[in-house]
Amino acid sequence: MTADQGKPQAIWLKSSVQQMLGKHLLTCHPQEACGILLGAAAAGGMLIDHYVPMSNVAPDPLHAFTPEPREWVHALYSQPRLIGLFHSHPHTEPWPSKADLAGLPALGPEFRAYLIGSPAAAGTGGLSLNAFLIESSSEPGNRSTRILTQAPLYVLLK
Ligand SMILES: [Zn+2]
Repeated sequence: MTADQGKPQAIWLKSSVQQMLGKHLLTCHPQEACGILLGAAAAGGMLIDHYVPMSNVAPDPLHAFTPEPREWVHALYSQPRLIGLFHSHPHTEPWPSKADLAGLPALGPEFRAYLIGSPAAAGTGGLSLNAFLIESSSEPGNRSTRILTQAPLYVLLK
């Protein structure tokens, strides 16, 4: 048992990234927005300092997201600082859906942060954001599965 157990790593977001996420969410509304997060592990957590928006090509983009395959593959091979995934819930709260959880095994080990955004009430910046860590959970005799653990989220003003 380590001292860190029970204390989730924090996720830090540059304010410019928060603005990009809010803007992309609004641009795509009422469809779901999606894209990848770039950043690096930092002391006590991770710092997300860039966002790459992607086209959502899901057959039902109002309720699902599928990143455009060429943009997705390009990002996987050309973004060494890829650290996470963002998508929006235009019609529901920013909590993982069953489909979100079902999609976790498809993500490579480089994906460590999982952000979900929803439109927020007026006067709160337009974006309600929840952050999760993508963690592996392996049980004896089972294949390892991936789970989401909510993480404290902080926005860096500078
Ligand atoms: Zn979702």
